[in-house]
Amino acid sequence: MINIPKGTKDVVPDAAYKWHYLEDVVRKTAAEFGFKEIRTPTFEHTELFLRGVGETTDIVNKEMYTFTDKGDRSITLKPEGTAGVARAYIENCLGDMPQPVKMYYLTPVFRYERPQAGRLREHHQFGVELYGSASPYADAEVMLVAKTLFDKLGLTEPVLNINSIGCPECRKKYNAALKEYLAGNIDKMCASCRERFDKNPLRILDCKEPGCKAITASAPKTLEYLCDDCRAHFEKLQSILSSAGVEFRVNPSVVRGLDYYTGTVFEFISSAIGAQGTVCGGGRYNNLVSEVGGKPTPAVGFGMGLERLIMILENLNLYLGEPETPTIYIAPTSEAEAEAAFSVVGELRKKGVSAECDIMGRSLKAQMKYAGKRGYAFVAVMGADEINSGKIKIKRMSDGVETECAISDIAEVLR
Ligand code: ATP
Ligand code: MG
Repeated sequence: MINIPKGTKDVVPDAAYKWHYLEDVVRKTAAEFGFKEIRTPTFEHTELFLRGVGETTDIVNKEMYTFTDKGDRSITLKPEGTAGVARAYIENCLGDMPQPVKMYYLTPVFRYERPQAGRLREHHQFGVELYGSASPYADAEVMLVAKTLFDKLGLTEPVLNINSIGCPECRKKYNAALKEYLAGNIDKMCASCRERFDKNPLRILDCKEPGCKAITASAPKTLEYLCDDCRAHFEKLQSILSSAGVEFRVNPSVVRGLDYYTGTVFEFISSAIGAQGTVCGGGRYNNLVSEVGGKPTPAVGFGMGLERLIMILENLNLYLGEPETPTIYIAPTSEAEAEAAFSVVGELRKKGVSAECDIMGRSLKAQMKYAGKRGYAFVAVMGADEINSGKIKIKRMSDGVETECAISDIAEVLR
């Protein structure tokens, strides 16, 4: 037998309803905020992620699924959703649309990681991207999309952690201070951090190695190095969130693992799923669009891990939709009524009622057993009497109550 690749998951038919429910709430929430869906390819030229995500990130360094295609191009399965959207924004001239442009996506994401709870090699993300506004209201709006989604799902718990890592001006000063602080300890840090020290020291703060974490715990904070504009932006953001009634925590250790962030960064962190508690991460990336070849465009967005979100909902025993079973099962008493039953379900489907009948040649008893296991809301037995009289009894399975009606009226009765 050939097994599923490590770090990937099947969604079997009886579990798919959870995804449908979640995706449905996601799409409704995005629409309420005026975000429209954007779909980009599952793979892109590798170069896009090198430039967009950044060569000093874990994603690009260690986690990409990259291969050479038959035309000798280097191709990468998308390791995040944002770079592809930025490319599509430029390529489809979305900058010419009325601003801001508000987009969302639902996409599989591929990362070569060490699989563990909440960490897969293929996972799925809901993400939003708001382009064209540099205002802290845009930051707040994006955070509110996530917050509103959690509210709708009955989740009060993921805590919004916010921080600002400043603009390139602030970053210059901060990097110098951070390097000075780390200089004495850098030889005790992991190989990736030693490399980041010269290329992108801020990334060191995002390292998950316990030894590195201990060293960076008392490192200087980006918030201490913000320029006046970045400070004012961050303060205004906090005031907007407070007056919108959104609880948050200023957390200087949130720096995000991607190169493209500028200014605001944030994570929603849950304590319901153990170590991989970040269910949503995002921030502002005003330099991304120009980095991948477009006009400078302020942008803010987030990516949310849907497997982690489902884990949280399951661990907290929250509602995750209803199993999807057709409404009614029509059981022919014998082979003689099979065609009639088959045509009745055909009529019901035309009227928008989900219906099934026996296609296994089962005895009536076996059909009843099957119908019970599948959980139809209604069952109707169709024998010679029913065909002759044109009338049938519909049994409501929840309480056994039977209603008789004309076979041609089943759809109306069910409504
Ligand atoms: P982490 O710090 O856990 O590695 P990240 O910073 O790499 O997360 P992002 O790139 O911000 O994560 O991705 C957005 C969200 O996607 C995360 O907050 C998380 O919920 C989810 N996610 C990221 N990587 C994985 C993965 N390998 N498996 C499942 N979900 C993931
Ligand atoms: Mg990661």
